Amino acid sequence: MFNSLVVEKDEESGLASASVKQISLDDLPDGEVTVAVEYSTVNYKDGLCMSPKGGGLVRSYPHIPGIDYAGTVEQSSDDRYKPGDKVVLTGWRVGEAHWGGYSQKANARADWLVPLPQGLDTRQAMAVGTAGFTAMLAVMALEDHGMQPGHGPVLVTGAAGGVGSVATAILAHLGYEVAAVTGRPDTADYLKSLGATTIVPRDDLNETTRRPLESETWSGCVDAVGGAMLARVLGQMKYGASVAAVGLAGGAGLPATVIPFLLRGVNLLGIDSVMQPYDNRVRAWQRIATDLPMDKLEAMIHPATLSDLPQLGADILQGQVKGRVVVDVNT
Ligand code: NDP
Repeated sequence: MFNSLVVEKDEESGLASASVKQISLDDLPDGEVTVAVEYSTVNYKDGLCMSPKGGGLVRSYPHIPGIDYAGTVEQSSDDRYKPGDKVVLTGWRVGEAHWGGYSQKANARADWLVPLPQGLDTRQAMAVGTAGFTAMLAVMALEDHGMQPGHGPVLVTGAAGGVGSVATAILAHLGYEVAAVTGRPDTADYLKSLGATTIVPRDDLNETTRRPLESETWSGCVDAVGGAMLARVLGQMKYGASVAAVGLAGGAGLPATVIPFLLRGVNLLGIDSVMQPYDNRVRAWQRIATDLPMDKLEAMIHPATLSDLPQLGADILQGQVKGRVVVDVNT
């Protein structure tokens, strides 16, 4: 028997709630690889999956959330993995449509796993998690579209959150001048410690303007917020610059005009971490191991246990989690 955070639905109220329970290997869905999970984390989606209505993501109950996990292979029927291998898993709708990593053991399809890159341990991998992996994908997409250091500041929105924190640290390490947008002024010292050179108050960018173009300011943007802020940022991009659209913390709408695309050649790049092909996953994890300073990552970490998760899920939905939560599933 081992511990898992199980979300169950109360048939009378129709609402779900989560608690730590003991389950066995027989309770797990089938998978080619059994992983002894060491660490998991808390992403916005995890908050949704633990919420009373499942955020529209959970298909059936009982459910084990946890969209990310890292651990050691215990047994494998697939040649690519053998007992003792260190692996990391993000995406593929694990923790949403499939049981996830809030458990001391998990079964996975071999295709979903990535070998842990050299230079990262399982705890660090979960400090990165989907949020950091996505931040890296965003930076890679911006680079592929011509972003280079020395061409002006790069904007990071939702900067004190998970995606934003990791994006800030990576960009600063790569030599970019980083302007960090936050709605929490008390995170300014934290953001500067990650390498941000300028703090932009959220209110400066959160309102729509009638002007489709403003002064050309940003040479790139990692946007975790969407909504009115993304629309506003598009009109402030330098000629030919790109925005990587990662998140919707501020809304799924986009009250924008096409003028920045037509008159300034601005690019809007969509970033999806969930169905990302294997080769690009491996490339992103290797880049994380080299381009994310581990002392900065350490400064983002808040340790947690399985029993802390229901509260942390509610907190992240309120935008109240700073940096990255690392869940030690064995404490
Ligand atoms: P966090 O909650 O850690 O960070 C989001 C941040 O956005 C907050 O910390 C806050 O930053 C800011 N924010 C919150 N609410 C608002 C608001 N109403 N208006 C403006 N800013 C706001 O989440 P993550 O970093 O894990 O994820 C960020 C987004 O990216 C989410 O929408 C998530 O669903 C999405 N995502 C997408 C992925 C993909 O594959 N495309 C993968 C991972 C995440 P501050 O306090 O600094 O203002």
